[in-house]
Amino acid sequence: MKLYLLGHAMRYEAGNLCFLFFPGEKIDEETDLAARGDFYAITRIRRGRTHTRALVLLVQGGKTARAHVFFQNDAPDPVKAGEHALGRAFIEAGERLCGFRPPWGILTGIRPVKLMRELLASGMDEEQAARRFTEELRVSPQKTALCVRTAGEETRITALSTLRSASLYISIPFCPTRCLYCSFISHDVEKTKKLLPAYVDRLCEELAAVGALVRRLGLRLETIYMGGGTPTSLSAPMLAQVFDAVRAAFSLDSLREYTVEAGRPDTITPEKLAAIRAGGCTRLCINPQTLDADILRRIGRAHTPEQFFEAFHMARGAGFSSINTDLIAGLPGDTPAGFSRTLDALLPLAPEGVTVHTLAMKRSSRLVSEGGARYDARGGEVERMLEDAYARLDAAGLAPYYLYRQRNTAGNLENTGFAKPGHEGLYNVFIMDETHTILAAGAGGVTKMRQPGGTRIERVFNFKYPYEYLARFDEVLARKQQVEAFYGGRFAKDSR
Ligand code: SF4
Repeated sequence: MKLYLLGHAMRYEAGNLCFLFFPGEKIDEETDLAARGDFYAITRIRRGRTHTRALVLLVQGGKTARAHVFFQNDAPDPVKAGEHALGRAFIEAGERLCGFRPPWGILTGIRPVKLMRELLASGMDEEQAARRFTEELRVSPQKTALCVRTAGEETRITALSTLRSASLYISIPFCPTRCLYCSFISHDVEKTKKLLPAYVDRLCEELAAVGALVRRLGLRLETIYMGGGTPTSLSAPMLAQVFDAVRAAFSLDSLREYTVEAGRPDTITPEKLAAIRAGGCTRLCINPQTLDADILRRIGRAHTPEQFFEAFHMARGAGFSSINTDLIAGLPGDTPAGFSRTLDALLPLAPEGVTVHTLAMKRSSRLVSEGGARYDARGGEVERMLEDAYARLDAAGLAPYYLYRQRNTAGNLENTGFAKPGHEGLYNVFIMDETHTILAAGAGGVTKMRQPGGTRIERVFNFKYPYEYLARFDEVLARKQQVEAFYGGRFAKDSR
């Protein structure tokens, strides 16, 4: 698809708008109108005496649609006004050409709830903020209502954070096999087995260094999240070694939540669960994604639905009283009826949390490279799966508490975490909202520092791949100084 930017430089915004209607298409920016062919988008901003006009012309296979929107030249924030006008014109032209309206309207960012919270914090009531979403940003009434609800929970959770607050992410980037849709840096345990002992040793050393840093700066640890990968790819003694290192390095007195992702049911054993319990974990994630055996096979997860049930009961038996389960809507071969059967099987277990993801077509996944990606901008079936899931989770007493979006998801839809009261994944909210600093340890970890009381964000990257992390471990430790420099000194004991 050819994209023309005339009279403006909103390249990123215009590209994202193209993806709303034409996901998976290669977008080529073009300047020569003679080369436009039969599939293109012309976006133009033209300033008049008192008003500026945003115009969009879409052409595909002989069909044409156009729309324009005016805004005042003296709008309080002309950049925002230009973006919104272009977005609205694009949505109108796209709807005429393609026959549907994207559920999130002109919002292409990953955090629509953050925007809702900003509107509410600016003094609008829920009705006014909702109207801004539906009328100006063209968000559907259903997604607007979901945003309003989620915003309330997010606001409550982020208010728990203080200036001294920080969270810790521990990366165990190993999995038993690679899922079809995965784009994370996760390594097949069988192939990398020999790296594991050295990896765990180094990770424990890094945790000690991060712990010392937290003490020196006077930070207060709110949550710990051990993810990856699949942390339960490690053996029980290795897990115990990591948990011991955490206990030795950090004071856990202030901790509100300690999550361990035991994502793959086939990696869970009674010994590992015992090590995780003894380590102080308060929240466990066991992720079936689907409970259809054929689909599980197709997506490369080497476990059966029965193994999920077994792992879930094993975890309950081991005393875990807060279990989250992840599902994915839109997996290859799934249908609304099939997704509903997954919920039929899952809900009687009464998990405390269910996170409903929408399948994302990630470029570095096998799903895309092997040609199995389904780009369906209309949502259709996937939207029905989400609607059904949301209604049933609501009826089961689980409420939405965090929500984010990704690029190239089936139907431009969202990922939403639901939980019973008191079982929300706080870490999920803190990281998505960028509420406070997240310190990371392990290969692929990214420390994201948030200026206390300000908005400045800086990142410190660990090496992505385990072998690189091991080979250049001195550099990993040396980079911790950047955290110290960012804070520039220690918090007083009584500062909030
Ligand atoms: S379990 Fe998660 S990290 Fe591991 S391969 Fe699957 S999607 Fe990737």
